[in-house]
Amino acid sequence: MTAATHAQALVLETPRHLVEHTFELPEIGADDGLLRVEACGLCGTDHEQYTGQLHPGRPFIPGHETVGILEEVGPAAAERWGVQPGDRVAVQVFQSCRTCGACQRGDTRHCRQHGMATMYGFQGTEVSPGLWGGYATHHYLGPDSMLLPVPPELDPVLATVFNPLGAGIQWGVTVPGTKPGDRVAVLGPGIRGLSVCAAAKDAGAEFVMVTGAGERDHPRLEAAEGFGADLVVDVTEEDPVAAFRRATGSGGAHVVVDVTANAPSAFAQGVALTRGGGTFVVAGIRGEPVPAFQADHLVYKELRIIGALGVDTDAYRAALALLATGRYPFAELSRQAVPLDGVDELLQTMAGEGDTPPVHGVVRPSTD
Ligand SMILES: [Zn+2]
Ligand SMILES: [Zn+2]
Repeated sequence: MTAATHAQALVLETPRHLVEHTFELPEIGADDGLLRVEACGLCGTDHEQYTGQLHPGRPFIPGHETVGILEEVGPAAAERWGVQPGDRVAVQVFQSCRTCGACQRGDTRHCRQHGMATMYGFQGTEVSPGLWGGYATHHYLGPDSMLLPVPPELDPVLATVFNPLGAGIQWGVTVPGTKPGDRVAVLGPGIRGLSVCAAAKDAGAEFVMVTGAGERDHPRLEAAEGFGADLVVDVTEEDPVAAFRRATGSGGAHVVVDVTANAPSAFAQGVALTRGGGTFVVAGIRGEPVPAFQADHLVYKELRIIGALGVDTDAYRAALALLATGRYPFAELSRQAVPLDGVDELLQTMAGEGDTPPVHGVVRPSTD
């Protein structure tokens, strides 16, 4: 095989205009690298970028759950990242300068020089060499990239779950401090909800309930049992608070994690489900104010409410290790993997336009 000289990539020029472009591959120096993309997972952010809810207003290559093979890597970068050409790695969405105060504290998501502006799958193509996202045959790795080695037993499609499962571990276990014996409620049965369920079970949770809303969520609720859920509830059919109390014989959950999308009423449900002194992790985005709820519950129950948005390196590493054990059926999830010319349609499906979306959507850009 002769080395490629060009990359094919999908540029989201404006909302819903995903156009294939050819990019010249950059020269790699001592300090950077080039990845051949094998797979890039899709999450809610991807279809929100596509439909325009989260479009940055300039052309860019989306895709921020990227796994691939290191095709080229400069000697300094190889040493810093602990990798060599041919290694399979996952790319973290944020970059880190390693020298600012935040990076030195290990809080790389708040790097002074990077942050949101240079996130992979978000930075504009006007910044050379343009290949900043996963919807492409090749992905440029700048000197400040953060890479995660992929265990050899994981195939690239399954490895893209590092991103949602990293979130599941951080929001479902690390942030609330979930302990063996805890009772947990997870609001939302998407790939993040299933990941929170698996992570909580793996941390020793005694009981986990997962909720969904409506017919479209039923296949996901059925899948949740494979991820350790002891009880699944469709909130349009059954009151989750009553169901939780009945099943556990208890007053509520030690830990509640909200990973719903556009579900304003989930907030009050989360407050009601959390037991006195318990922790409610809010990671779902509502897009509008929550309907009135009895704020006095926060006081009387002495709740801890914690917002959660990002994921740190330790959680990503733990996610890859947990995936490699095969303890939870991530490989069997309802999944659709498409080449570059199938991405438009898959994003529309995942945005809820048309057929029932798969739980896990993946782009497989390689042409070989
Ligand atoms: Zn994402
Ligand atoms: Zn920094």
